[in-house]
Amino acid sequence: MDIEQSTLYVVSTPIGNLGDITQRALDVLAGVDAILAEDTRRTAQLLSHYNIKSKLVSFHDHNERERVEQIVQWLSEGQSLALVSDAGTPLISDPGYVLVSELRTKNIKVSPIPGVSAIVTALSASGLPTDRFCFEGFLPAKPTQRRNALERVVKEPRTLVFYESSHRIEDSIADCVSVFGGERKAVIARELTKRFETFLSGSLESILIKLQTDSNQQKGEFVVMIAGAELQQHAFDEKAEMLAKELVEHLPPKLAAQIISNLTELNKKQAYELILSAKGNA
Ligand code: SAM
Repeated sequence: MDIEQSTLYVVSTPIGNLGDITQRALDVLAGVDAILAEDTRRTAQLLSHYNIKSKLVSFHDHNERERVEQIVQWLSEGQSLALVSDAGTPLISDPGYVLVSELRTKNIKVSPIPGVSAIVTALSASGLPTDRFCFEGFLPAKPTQRRNALERVVKEPRTLVFYESSHRIEDSIADCVSVFGGERKAVIARELTKRFETFLSGSLESILIKLQTDSNQQKGEFVVMIAGAELQQHAFDEKAEMLAKELVEHLPPKLAAQIISNLTELNKKQAYELILSAKGNA
């Protein structure tokens, strides 16, 4: 592949399994003048695995702003550069935003070399709706801020996706139970593409119990996915509808509505309307 001058390539790298890298990514990493890396030692391991000898330059959250000017100069002089993070796609909960936005305003070419990201990898095998989703990055570390952040998305109808670390997975899921309710469906994907890859799927309450009773389930890296509020409501409606169809056969409408409203979140009026429509369909 031809490497273009004066171009920053944003290159995705594996999230665990070193085999998950594209041929284009390898060609670009081997062909550029330098690679901007979040952690040069970590990227050196990837390069050594593929026998790539390109120069590495450190580029992380703490030096991103001061490095931008230098990088703009290198690109203006005709150099080609690649940006990588420790794992997955740069800028996705990783450094690079300040640099890429600056290059766009300066009309300097930025070209993505697509590959793995933990969000899409996790969603693709989650069994939750993926037609629309809402990525929230990392939840705040402090409990009050974390619960506030969860409260803000409690009615979000799209599948929610969070990144989480081993230190906080149990506390975060416990907070999810208290904010979304233990019944809300969720999936957590752990150690994707690695030896101990695991998906825990079920109600938030059941996932919390699995985490608390098996400390191995708290090790590694996590993507937390929570069913959107609409889906929950839909599942709920289905349950109430089934109850209505069953009860309407055997009980007077008022009593049936009372039972449904006791057993679900529907109020008496909503339950009564459901009974009437079930009666109509009976
Ligand atoms: N840029 C990366 C991407 O495109 O996915 C994400 C970087 S972010 C600093 C790291 C977080 O991504 C981890 O804490 C975890 O939540 C998630 N992650 C990365 N690799 C993972 C894996 N193999 N399995 C599960 N989650 C992973």
